[in-house]
Amino acid sequence: MGKAFDIGLQQLTGSPPDPWAGGGLPVTSSQRGTFFLETFGCQMNDHDSEKVAGVLLSRGYRQVESPEAASLILYNTCSIREKAAQKVFSRLGEFREKQQDGKIIGVLGCVAQQEGEDIFKRAPWVNLVCGSASYRKLPEMLAQLEAGNHHVTGLDTDTDETFETEVTRRDNPWRAYLTIIEGCDKACSYCVVPFTRGPERNRASDSILREVRQLADLGYSEVQLLGQTVNSYADPTPRRMRFSELLLAAADVSGIRRVRFTTSHPSDFGRDIVEAIESQPKLCEHVHLPVQSGSTKVLRAMQRTYSREEYLEKIGTIRAAKRPIAITTDIIVGFPGETDADYGETLSLLDEVQYDGLFAFKYSPRPNTPSLSMKDSIPEEEKSHRLAVLQDKQREIQRARNASLVGESFEVLVSGKSRREYQWSGYTSSHRVVNFASQAPELLGAYVQVRVTDATPNSLLGEHVI
Ligand code: SAM
Ligand code: SF4
Repeated sequence: MGKAFDIGLQQLTGSPPDPWAGGGLPVTSSQRGTFFLETFGCQMNDHDSEKVAGVLLSRGYRQVESPEAASLILYNTCSIREKAAQKVFSRLGEFREKQQDGKIIGVLGCVAQQEGEDIFKRAPWVNLVCGSASYRKLPEMLAQLEAGNHHVTGLDTDTDETFETEVTRRDNPWRAYLTIIEGCDKACSYCVVPFTRGPERNRASDSILREVRQLADLGYSEVQLLGQTVNSYADPTPRRMRFSELLLAAADVSGIRRVRFTTSHPSDFGRDIVEAIESQPKLCEHVHLPVQSGSTKVLRAMQRTYSREEYLEKIGTIRAAKRPIAITTDIIVGFPGETDADYGETLSLLDEVQYDGLFAFKYSPRPNTPSLSMKDSIPEEEKSHRLAVLQDKQREIQRARNASLVGESFEVLVSGKSRREYQWSGYTSSHRVVNFASQAPELLGAYVQVRVTDATPNSLLGEHVI
């Protein structure tokens, strides 16, 4: 069962310790106890960073906007594709010349887990290497760094604990992320996540719901439940709440107006989730259901545990719901052995499903994954071509789907204010971006009705209905 780690009440409420007292490091007084944290990758990483920032703030650190202004510089990294991992090393390279500055530099997340102590060899000026499964030990690791220890590591993945903190510094004042499962027990042949984030650990349902209540009390009206396979949730408490029951219980919390969840795995996507969305309007009408390929042959090679037909059955269930539910997906093109015919099946799947949004990627061979032993047979130019054709096709599908919404009205959670006067933006329950005009003096954080007047492939345009 997930065990919370305690930061300790004194550190939350007492006078903050000076992390640099006695350290004798040549940082300037304005930089003392300051941290800069840059995040790469997915929403799970974004949320991990919010929790890491919470741990640091509760230890008396202050967050700053640039590495120059900080004494502690942290990169929360992503290694899902090679390009993402390379970005981190180019960031670290910027410190080659500055290593005498006395700053502490840490690499967190998936690249840390993947490269381990080799990072110290490649960039000896790095002081901390810590994978996400070890974040609960961050206070101890920070204490070691503060004591002047030069190389500190946290690289366990054999933990059954989740990273729960007393303080989380959330970036968005209306929508709060909440991790309900960490790690992943699937074994998709291309994917580093089971290796970098470790095995699946489920958070206790009572702890999740307690946090939802706290968030509502703090004024958050939307919560987004996160997990690599969020719908595989298995409550570790005797209550044994199903994922769909957890969604309904979160929606029942007073003050909560929207509940989202991501990412769902098709194999564990049951009718009960659709029924929950049908029965409870607070459950957002959006499912992100990554398919990866339209070819059953490629899906088998990817070890995705479902066929094209089985996937389409799930889509049928979602499309038949009493409420319209937007469906988005992830696709990989150029997987080893993907023929023109296989790729054609992915294109035809787009026609068949009519997705509302799509993230598409060129296959990138990753360390420690089963597909690394398969020949990366599709040339880079061909992968780029397949990606471009797929994205063009999807753009046209989205253009038509969004155009069909002109004239309809939607509830929008307003989350942005344009520099242009009286222009606002926000999200519908289906997670469409809406840019709209309103003469209202202040709308941020409000739920308003917007009538759609025009549409592009990626957003809707509208006007405030008063
Ligand atoms: N857990 C989610 C799932 O099962 O769909 C998503 C995990 S991953 C952070 C997000 C997406 O990155 C995947 O859905 C996949 O499309 C893509 N991805 C993962 N590994 C990849 C690789 N080696 N090359 C290209 N894209 C990859
Ligand atoms: Fe990776 Fe597959 Fe797990 Fe998603 S389900 S995180 S793609 S192994």
